[in-house]
Amino acid sequence: MVPLPALPSTRALIHAPWSASKVAAALRCPRLFHFRYVDRLREIEVMPEARIGKAVHAALETALGGTVVSEAAATARAALTDDDQQRRFDALATGIEPFIARIERFRRGRRVQRQLVEYSLAVREDLSATQFYAGDAFYRGVLDAGYLYDEDNLAVVDHKTGVRLPQTSMRDQLEGYLVLAASAFRQVRRFWLGVHWVAERAVEWSTPVEASQVHDRLVPAVLDNIEAAALAVDDGPRTNPGPWCDRCSYRAVCPASHQQRWEPVYDDYDDDDE
Ligand code: SF4
Repeated sequence: MVPLPALPSTRALIHAPWSASKVAAALRCPRLFHFRYVDRLREIEVMPEARIGKAVHAALETALGGTVVSEAAATARAALTDDDQQRRFDALATGIEPFIARIERFRRGRRVQRQLVEYSLAVREDLSATQFYAGDAFYRGVLDAGYLYDEDNLAVVDHKTGVRLPQTSMRDQLEGYLVLAASAFRQVRRFWLGVHWVAERAVEWSTPVEASQVHDRLVPAVLDNIEAAALAVDDGPRTNPGPWCDRCSYRAVCPASHQQRWEPVYDDYDDDDE
């Protein structure tokens, strides 16, 4: 029998529920983590990339739900009021139709039992499935899209609207999705992870992951990451200024952001804990 993983520490439980983006925020800058997740400070400024990414995600979600692509894109575009943001949205939106066509081809070639769009998942501290907003949720996330097919396969797709990055940089977030999905869909034996690079109209697939690998390798990795994040924020809202400050929604209220100027970095839109 496979042993259960060790239970989370008290400091990890204090900041639950965790998500991939919450873990990333804690590891990047404890002050940012406190602004967003402890003080629950409203974002002072929302970066254009986040607004555009959110609009593209909304258009993809609506189109996957069956709405005509042009209509889905027009509705999502209307949420952007800035001309430059609308132009950038239009460029990205040209990637929606090819993606929908790709999904239709996939559905014709496989026995798809179920499509999951913007699908919320959560687990308790013992990794049993629970509701996303339940008080006992320990780790949670939202799948952009997923397909249960051929009885025991699950393909998970994550949309990325930014610059294409090496696959490894997405690993923590995507592996977290598999931990969540393995708990919710116990009949699945094999998981496939795809990153949909919207601007490049490309879907990059990982090698398939067996259910046993999720338990043996990914669960400990996700729990270790959560512990590292909890440790990083344990001694208060320490600032950790760096290139990411130029994309921080709280830079206007953070003195550390003005100490030095940095080269810009890119942050993709991510709503895994909304
Ligand atoms: S501006 Fe930089 S140092 Fe300040 S909270 Fe944001 S990321 Fe942290």
